[in-house]
Amino acid sequence: MKKIRCLICGMIINDKNYNMNDSTFIDKNEVDDIVRCPFCGVTKEYLSDDEEYINFNSDDLEDKTRKVLDMGMKLEMFNGDFYEEASKQAKDEKLKKMFKDLSNIEMMHARVHKNFGGFNTFPSLKKIDYKKHNTDELLLIEANKREKHAIEFYERYFSKVPDSIKKIFKALSDVEKEHITIIRQID
Ligand SMILES: [Zn+2]
Repeated sequence: MKKIRCLICGMIINDKNYNMNDSTFIDKNEVDDIVRCPFCGVTKEYLSDDEEYINFNSDDLEDKTRKVLDMGMKLEMFNGDFYEEASKQAKDEKLKKMFKDLSNIEMMHARVHKNFGGFNTFPSLKKIDYKKHNTDELLLIEANKREKHAIEFYERYFSKVPDSIKKIFKALSDVEKEHITIIRQID
């Protein structure tokens, strides 16, 4: 398999990792047909077989853009943390796996914001207790709410960021939309 690079998260996709996190995708990767980044979930149009990663310098960003990326990083970290906990709390085995995969994807989104914002470390966030979501159904309702919240974030700030970041927001927001579809398919 030819090496493919994701232009959003920067990861290299190969024949060992192409099927990671596949419970979060409607269209699944085949070894000779890669349609999603297995790390951040973006669609084919953001994948390249050219080794080159996007030329991007976070020093060129305005402070207000960096602030938006900081918010995006934290939002994705919270959602990643929720899914991590949800994967422990869920009773259904398939759901456990899907929540774990979703957690991986959202944490990679947090990393994307961190990279483009030029932040050195992840902040430590307050631990949230998710015990009240004590059935699989309640976990799915909460998951749906969080995905909607993320999509709203990307829509609200889309017009306030430069073109280089718009592209990333569009790519990530489409991933969250696919998550909503996947979550609704569970029964
Ligand atoms: Zn990616």
